[in-house]
Amino acid sequence: MAQIFCVANQKGGVGKTTTTVNLAAGLAKVGQRVLMIDLDPQGNATTGSGVDKRQLALTVYDVLLESASIKEVRVQSEKLIAGKCSYDILGANRELAGAEVEMVDLERREKRLKLALAEVDDEYDFVLIDCPPSLSMLTLNGLCCAHGVIVPMQCEYFALEGLTDLVNTVKQVHANLNKDLAIIGLLRVMFDPRITLQQQVSEQLKNYYGDKVFNTVIPRNVRLAEAPSYGLPGVVFDPSSKGAQAFVAFAQEMVARIGKV
Ligand code: ATP
Ligand code: MG
Repeated sequence: MAQIFCVANQKGGVGKTTTTVNLAAGLAKVGQRVLMIDLDPQGNATTGSGVDKRQLALTVYDVLLESASIKEVRVQSEKLIAGKCSYDILGANRELAGAEVEMVDLERREKRLKLALAEVDDEYDFVLIDCPPSLSMLTLNGLCCAHGVIVPMQCEYFALEGLTDLVNTVKQVHANLNKDLAIIGLLRVMFDPRITLQQQVSEQLKNYYGDKVFNTVIPRNVRLAEAPSYGLPGVVFDPSSKGAQAFVAFAQEMVARIGKV
């Protein structure tokens, strides 16, 4: 059975997409079978995996509206295959922005993705879902099918404030829609140890959330920021960079945490 994780944080630009594509590549690198789902109309995880979002005939939009199955929509990326860190991709583009409105009248609209995933569950070890920066119907579809939420966050003052809203949303979804859901962990990203405030917030996080904070810390690393313009996760683009190494370590930590060898 696949372990399904949402990478979510309603704050914009905190590193969700970078985390999703690099964790997907890192897990593939350590031998896991991975499906990456782009649930953001921006389509950054699609582009960042080497797939041209404008050329896609079918996307996750078609899965949500039940006009196609995951088997019909998923694609692979030649760049990832060449880099030997390949995972399957359920792509997204701007069309997905309309899904929210079009789904309003549909029954069980928050469970669409969950139902579709059941069909491919045994083909993957991990399913990773890149969520948009909002707590919308799209994010809700992700949360309804997930076993856990990975929350990337920068160690800044306002990051802690936003976390409360996310924790409350996860509690509500847990109580009403998906009893499997839990925050599996907080991932410190874009970390710069030279900045005192970041060290302080990092300590506060550990004191307050304990082992919900992942051991791995992702450093601020320019190679991770450059990689998407080459249509590659940093893990494939420059495997020797500090950022890539941190994401492979994070993949190993995830595998160890959920008890897979
Ligand atoms: P959105 O909310 O718009 O979906 P996001 O949370 O998915 O954004 P990203 O797109 O992953 O955030 O990252 C925002 C920016 O920060 C990008 O330009 C990305 O390349 C850069 N970035 C992310 N992580 C790192 C890092 N560890 N080091 C350096 N730059 C990073
Ligand atoms: Mg994003």
